[in-house]
Amino acid sequence: MAKIFCVANQKGGVGKTTTTVNLAAGLAKVGQRVLMIDLDPQGNATMGSGVDKRKLELTVYDVLLESASLLEARVHSEKCGYDVLGANRELAGAEVELVDVERRERRLKLALADVGEHYDFVLIDCPPSLSMLTLNGLCCAHGVIVPMQCEYFALEGLTDLVNTIKQVHANLNKDLAIIGLLRVMFDPRITLQQQVSDQLKSHFGDKVFNTVIPRNVRLAEAPSYGLPGVVFDPSSKGAQAFVTFAEEMVQRIKAM
Ligand code: ADP
Ligand code: MG
Repeated sequence: MAKIFCVANQKGGVGKTTTTVNLAAGLAKVGQRVLMIDLDPQGNATMGSGVDKRKLELTVYDVLLESASLLEARVHSEKCGYDVLGANRELAGAEVELVDVERRERRLKLALADVGEHYDFVLIDCPPSLSMLTLNGLCCAHGVIVPMQCEYFALEGLTDLVNTIKQVHANLNKDLAIIGLLRVMFDPRITLQQQVSDQLKSHFGDKVFNTVIPRNVRLAEAPSYGLPGVVFDPSSKGAQAFVTFAEEMVQRIKAM
């Protein structure tokens, strides 16, 4: 059965989408069957996987509103080697349209129930908020991957997310846990980043992934080509780090 992970952090611009698409591509590269779900109306993970969000006939929006099944709405990204349940602006309306729906936070979980055996990993790119969309992701996940930059205020921002995860765990999804904190956009030459990284390690122990994702311009350039860095420039430092991270994830789920 597929292991389902949300990539979440309520801050914008911390590397969620970059992590989602590159981990998806890295996992595909090491032979895993992957579904990437874009839960952000911005649709960056969709575009960054080589799928044009403006041309999609069905998206995660249709799945949440039950006007299509997940199997109908997913598409395959040939270049990236994984399946995509895409998103576009339409998804912004889902929040309002789900207001009167019963068990509205479990829509995605229901939709995923019949695809579990098709995949080894399902990765969900969450929007930068703790909204109904993020809640749908957290309700169906086994774990949360939290990308974070090693900056002074990084830990402060984590409190709200940790509290939300605790609440979801207590009330809605007993399976949910923070699987790990991923240090991203890391620059070892900056002393402060090294210090915050050490603090994270001593505070969270093995909840901090061993792999560190460096700041790497190829990862930032790749989206404009509609590709994850892992596919765009496999030999770059950033791409190699994400493949190593994919291998670390494969090892971690064996222990789950
Ligand atoms: P989020 O989804 O959390 O809003 P993104 O993944 O879109 O964040 O990243 C924000 C910006 O930082 C993007 O322009 C992205 O290309 C860039 N970026 C992300 N990770 C890296 C990295 N490791 N090195 C360089 N640039 C990065
Ligand atoms: Mg994003």
